[in-house]
Amino acid sequence: MTGIQEDIEAAAALLAAATDVTLLGHVRPDADALGSALALGHVLHRQGARVRVSFGEPDEAPETLAWLDADGLLTPADALPPTDGLLVALDTPAPARLGRLAPRVAAVRAAGGSVLVVDHHATNAYYGTHHVVDESAEATAVLVTRIIEAMGAELDEPAARGLYAGIVTDTSGFRRASPETHRIAARLLEAGVDPSEVARRIIDDHPFAWLPMLSAVLSEAQLEPEGAQGFGFVHTVVRAAEVALVRSEEVESVIDVVRATREAGVAAVLKAAGPVDGSPVWTVSLRSAGDVDVSAAAAELGGGGHRMAAGCTVTGSAEEVLALLREALGRAPLLRAS
Ligand code: AMP
Ligand code: MN
Ligand code: MN
Repeated sequence: MTGIQEDIEAAAALLAAATDVTLLGHVRPDADALGSALALGHVLHRQGARVRVSFGEPDEAPETLAWLDADGLLTPADALPPTDGLLVALDTPAPARLGRLAPRVAAVRAAGGSVLVVDHHATNAYYGTHHVVDESAEATAVLVTRIIEAMGAELDEPAARGLYAGIVTDTSGFRRASPETHRIAARLLEAGVDPSEVARRIIDDHPFAWLPMLSAVLSEAQLEPEGAQGFGFVHTVVRAAEVALVRSEEVESVIDVVRATREAGVAAVLKAAGPVDGSPVWTVSLRSAGDVDVSAAAAELGGGGHRMAAGCTVTGSAEEVLALLREALGRAPLLRAS
């Protein structure tokens, strides 16, 4: 038996015996974090456990992901009980990415409780008591599917839709999905997931205000053909005035347009998240076309992520942040001999 299969079976045994479970995703949760947590939460709830799903910020789940919560498990961070039974952290490489819920990890461990970490980040800090961590998994949802199957639990439609949502988004619409992950997706479809509904509700659903916002933001895009060690660097900025007009879903969609630029091996979008104490703050999305390890550049700026998709939060003017990115990308490891 491989190491990961043993870890999956240990996690399945832990979960099968649990009666009170808090499942947490990372701050500003995406479909992988929330879909994984809600799917596993649904299975445990169906088993009779007391279950809640939460995240450190913002206060409410993104509108496009709330429908994954078939059982009303989503609980605002402030409404969580003071102590946790079993704590499960999903898609979260380090406690800091839980934001204000981070202290719960140490609290559960200090009380002798269990913390299960399920994640696919190479930088995972192994901060739990039990770990299912596999950087070769394209999504945390792949690992959660395997855990649910190891529990012998039925994969029904409400569980499968969250898992499918995590996989379709983290693989960029199956562009980066192994044959095994396609097989897992097939089992999720057999459980009743409607793939067109998932795509329409999570990926292709924006209010009209999205179009003028995109128009303004894309008109500021710049290409630096010699940037990113000669692979090309394209970037743009979503300023506070534009962020104010739309939801987070519209802001997060910009990187998927910009990253398709042929002349650029690296794409960045700076998204206004501040100001904090009078200084502009930006959350930065970085994507690689496969030549440059953007997780290394993000890590240099205090963030992290995967080789092809990473991010960080940086304070300063947009020009200052871009200067830091140019330098970090100039030093980032290359991913293939060229
Ligand atoms: P995003 O561009 O926000 O979709 O982020 C891409 C990936 O980068 C995420 O899946 C995370 O793994 C990682 N990431 C984004 N922001 C941060 C951050 N501030 N700190 C650490 N990792 C991050
Ligand atoms: Mn994520
Ligand atoms: Mn993920």
